[in-house]
Amino acid sequence: MGPFNASHKAYASYGSQKSKPWIELSKAAYLHNAAQISKMANGKPVLAVLKNNAYGLGDVQVGQILNDAPAIAGIAVVKDDRAIAMRSAGITKPILLMGDFDGALSESLLSHNITLSIYSRDSFEKIKQIAATRAENVNVALYIDTGLGRMGLPYQEAGKLAEEIASSADLSITQTFSTLTTPQDFAREQIARFEEITKHMDKKGIPSGTRHLAPSYSLLDLPASHQDAVRPGILIHGSFPLADMPEAKQYPLEIPYRLKAPVIRLEKLSTGDTIGFSRFYKVTKDEWIATLPIGWADGYNSGAENGAKVLLGDQLFPVVNVNASHANISLGEKTSVKVGDVATLIGPDRAEITPEGFGKLVKGHNYLQINYKESIPKQIYETF
Ligand SMILES: *Cc1c(COP(=O)(O)O)cnc(C)c1O
Repeated sequence: MGPFNASHKAYASYGSQKSKPWIELSKAAYLHNAAQISKMANGKPVLAVLKNNAYGLGDVQVGQILNDAPAIAGIAVVKDDRAIAMRSAGITKPILLMGDFDGALSESLLSHNITLSIYSRDSFEKIKQIAATRAENVNVALYIDTGLGRMGLPYQEAGKLAEEIASSADLSITQTFSTLTTPQDFAREQIARFEEITKHMDKKGIPSGTRHLAPSYSLLDLPASHQDAVRPGILIHGSFPLADMPEAKQYPLEIPYRLKAPVIRLEKLSTGDTIGFSRFYKVTKDEWIATLPIGWADGYNSGAENGAKVLLGDQLFPVVNVNASHANISLGEKTSVKVGDVATLIGPDRAEITPEGFGKLVKGHNYLQINYKESIPKQIYETF
């Protein structure tokens, strides 16, 4: 329980006010998902991608939970300061930084044992200079662009750079990685490009360390992508990368979080009234409208006003308007809902409010929960 005390405390003072949204996380559900992903990957080690603040769910909090998961071999992030924040929060699993870093943080990153990625010639020079000042060898990951076209060393140049890295006395390659695209035929081509480089390294006697390529989609779609480890993000949070994937039945995941917000205003609006700046929602029959203190600026998807539902008590109600800081819910002509009642906007409790159910109702993709603001408080439960 140690690491969770801080967030419990933060929540206790917050909970009494009930004026803001919050996120609840289930430790048991996260551990279940980690174990399931390990099965999906035929037992290969799982590197949990907790970038973008763990898709808005709290990188430190999810990282603390996964720190106890036997299936999780390590954590990967994209931002330097988040890697350090996780270490400062007591996370001990290996951490890989898949992005750039601020030179001023290099000491801190290395003293916190965070593996840096070489993703360009410039980043190689930068890391080489830092390594020259350190007593111990610096472990690096060779990040190769095999065709995603976004990050990494172009695959045509990676073999030669691997040789240069290997010849610098202060650096050791402990990981070699790339990221696959979704179309299977091109992903296969990417794997071939990747393996050509690792074979070249083998031939030259250069260790490539742990090799990994597979985000959630490839992990499911292409077993050849598993290599030495897999690197899922969204699966950890209980969502499949696409709706209705057959693997969802074979390896059921749990939705490990709830997004909640209290009702802060309740008014009966009359026929002809409207809600929102653009008068988006028109009241056609007198009805009770609840206001929740959460909007798109908090990361709640604004598409919710096009058909999403929230759970209040044991009933689902439609979202009829989303502004920057508020969302409105239609409760109908009569209601027993009161100010202070708590709505669940996303969670495991009903099919309509799971991330996938939400995505279907608003005709959007499964990554819609990617944006929750870091300022939304998190509360960790042992189980839901
Ligand atoms: C986001 C990301 C992942 C994980 O993607 P999911 O689709 O969420 O599984 C893996 N690797 C890299 C480099 C990424 O940027």
